[in-house]
Amino acid sequence: MRRISIFGATGSIGQSTIDLIDRDRESYEVEVLTGGRNIDQLAKDARRLNAKLAVTADETRLDDLRTALAGSGVEVAAGRIALTEAASRPVDWFMSAIVGAAGLEPGLRALEQGAVLALANKESMVCAGGLMLRTAKAHNTRILPVDSEHSAVFQALLGEDITSVEKVTITASGGAFRDWPIEDLVKATPQQAATHPNWDMGQRITIDSASMFNKALELIETKEFFDLKPSQVETVVHPESMIHALVGYRDGAYLAHMGAPDMRHAIGYALHYPERRDLPVARMDLVALGQLTFRKPCEIRWPALRQAREVMEAGGLMGAVFNAAKERALDAFIDERILFPQMAEVVDTVLTRLSAQAGHNTAEITLDKVAEADHLARQSADAVIAENT
Ligand code: NAD
Ligand code: MG
Repeated sequence: MRRISIFGATGSIGQSTIDLIDRDRESYEVEVLTGGRNIDQLAKDARRLNAKLAVTADETRLDDLRTALAGSGVEVAAGRIALTEAASRPVDWFMSAIVGAAGLEPGLRALEQGAVLALANKESMVCAGGLMLRTAKAHNTRILPVDSEHSAVFQALLGEDITSVEKVTITASGGAFRDWPIEDLVKATPQQAATHPNWDMGQRITIDSASMFNKALELIETKEFFDLKPSQVETVVHPESMIHALVGYRDGAYLAHMGAPDMRHAIGYALHYPERRDLPVARMDLVALGQLTFRKPCEIRWPALRQAREVMEAGGLMGAVFNAAKERALDAFIDERILFPQMAEVVDTVLTRLSAQAGHNTAEITLDKVAEADHLARQSADAVIAENT
């Protein structure tokens, strides 16, 4: 029996994780499931999987959760502190699938109690990559990437020496507006941006795919996770989303990872690592596919890619600043307070304003410093948004 916890269980990655667990119920003992406002889903899964504890991040929903789980024997809790405490409960495997910087602290606590961390929450690596890796090492455990591109890179690196890697290329579908005329992007609505051509994901990451903020985060995540130089990571637009990443070696060989776009592959790989087990993902039909295509990403359409390079070069806390500014700009776009292209403008202004503040690109990363940089960047982004509306 493996003891597991799933943080962000009600989200897209959380539900796919539960789908895999459900197929082999006898092998797992579920310690903690967490969610946000979707109390019905959280309670339903906690009952069905016989979880020991269910936590909602929303403090105001504790009573609702208690009512929904009455008589089930599942403990309940609510709020950020309860979430962090729940992450410290010992388990063998921990899925980090909260969206945003809110996923960082629970993931760190999970590493501190020695769990293997399946990391979907890319923001953890963007805000505090070095701290995450150091914590894993100090507690004699490991982080397994669940982002599809990073799982792909991880698999293409197996048995290889990282020093023989020349370049890592992660692919990008291009998102909802890949083929829109650039001048039309000012008219893009949140609903249009939240429709992905290939992947079925949460609302926020889907909009981030259209703006390529998601790919920008993933470039930084790649650099941090595999300890590469900024010049060694790049992205290419690949509309079919069949190749997820390629690792280019010094002898001219490229090892590419391919597969149908279904997150259950990367989740299942992290769940069964180092074994490969049967997974319910579609098999590839190369002949039906016919061809795979690639395009150079345009940095006028997707300024987030330029910003990612700037952030990687700056290092330090600029990843946390970038992510926080992006989260606030995304909130403002979802609320229709700013236009689609203004998200990148807000982030540019915050990066300029905060990089000038001493220490942001040199500071040693601690959780407190990340929290402070995150807070300052959110304040700065809100001010920029207010100036623009
Ligand atoms: P989602 O929006 O579908 O789900 C997010 C989960 O986090 C939900 O359970 C929600 O209740 C919870 N949550 C939201 N805000 C919270 C907060 N402040 N505190 C605590 N919990 C909170 O998101 P998702 O698409 O499943 O993505 C989850 C993470 O995985 C993100 O970091 C995303 O970038 C990453 N990821 C997702 C996919 C995908 O296919 N969906 C692929 C790769 C990486
Ligand atoms: Mg990804």
